[in-house]
Amino acid sequence: MAYKDYYAILGVPRNASQEEIKRAYRRLALKYHPDKNPGNREAEEKFKEISEAYEVLSDPEKRAIYDNYGYSGLKSSGYKGFEDIGDIFKTFSDIFEEFFGFTFDRGSEPHPIDGADLSYELVLDLKDVFKDKDVTIEIQKLDLCDNCHGLGYDPQKGVKTCPSCKGSGKITYTEGFFRIRYVCPDCGGRGVVYVERCKECQGAGRVPKKKKLTITVPAGVEDGTILRIPGEGEAGLYGGRPGDLFIRIKIKPHPFFYRDRGNLRASLKINFLSAILGDRVKIPYFDEEIEIDIPPGTQPGEEIVVKGKGVPTKSGARGDLILRVDVELPKKVSERGKELLEEFAKVEKISKGKSSLGSPDKKKKKEGFWRKIFGR
Ligand SMILES: [Zn+2]
Ligand SMILES: [Zn+2]
Repeated sequence: MAYKDYYAILGVPRNASQEEIKRAYRRLALKYHPDKNPGNREAEEKFKEISEAYEVLSDPEKRAIYDNYGYSGLKSSGYKGFEDIGDIFKTFSDIFEEFFGFTFDRGSEPHPIDGADLSYELVLDLKDVFKDKDVTIEIQKLDLCDNCHGLGYDPQKGVKTCPSCKGSGKITYTEGFFRIRYVCPDCGGRGVVYVERCKECQGAGRVPKKKKLTITVPAGVEDGTILRIPGEGEAGLYGGRPGDLFIRIKIKPHPFFYRDRGNLRASLKINFLSAILGDRVKIPYFDEEIEIDIPPGTQPGEEIVVKGKGVPTKSGARGDLILRVDVELPKKVSERGKELLEEFAKVEKISKGKSSLGSPDKKKKKEGFWRKIFGR
């Protein structure tokens, strides 16, 4: 019986650690494995030899017998070594998997599929922002099938063991050195197949559904605000999370009122008598009317501020209504009117033929400047 020096075969010292032995075997197995050396008898013999050396030295009990009693001692303890190459693959399948990573997707559970997010545009009127508002909307989305609750099969008939993989969810085949496992294509790794598909969803698990939702739009909401409603997007499958619903608020432009954060702006047209003498006028304000005091001597372009008549802001405070005065002058007056105006001019010492120049829109420019700085 020929003596075999397992340490020399693997090229490791006698006091080599398990880790060193494993590393050495990995390196040599890569070099001599039969798939890399087809038809090479020498490589095959070498492969057997290193595998035997590894089998003995990686096993503490066998290694102890070998260290103390040598190769013949090991043989008389009943150790036989490998019959053939196939024997080696069987014994070391796990270690080869670890070495070379030839196990494909081990997945046995279907991956959870998260539901998609949905978006919805909600159009509101400016008057809707004064108070919290409940709005009922209808959305269409993929939701769990009522018949199978997302399972995809007829729940009455249930499932049966997948005949292709016999329930393991994996198909294994051995090709030479490699043992390849992959997810069973017939059951997708679930190990079971439907006896019959769900007729409602054709196996998809989800169906398009319409759903009514009542949402509360907070007071003071601004155009372009996005409200997120968690979990109201499409349903997830196999334990996946449902998506979210994103509601984009669009506020229709109002014919008179322009929103400037919490303030509302509009232009107020009054006649010259109201401007000169002062007045109290009514203006439409959403579903009501409000009265505006015009101080005597109001100039065109001046702003009248009505406190607290703006829109609510996020902080809860309400802005102002700012009216820019536009004074309407009569385009034509009667002969009598002319006489009275001449008379009026005399009394008030207003003479014609006088004018002066000023810088255009000084106030506006200043506003523009501040706006730029504060990004208003
Ligand atoms: Zn179904
Ligand atoms: Zn299967």
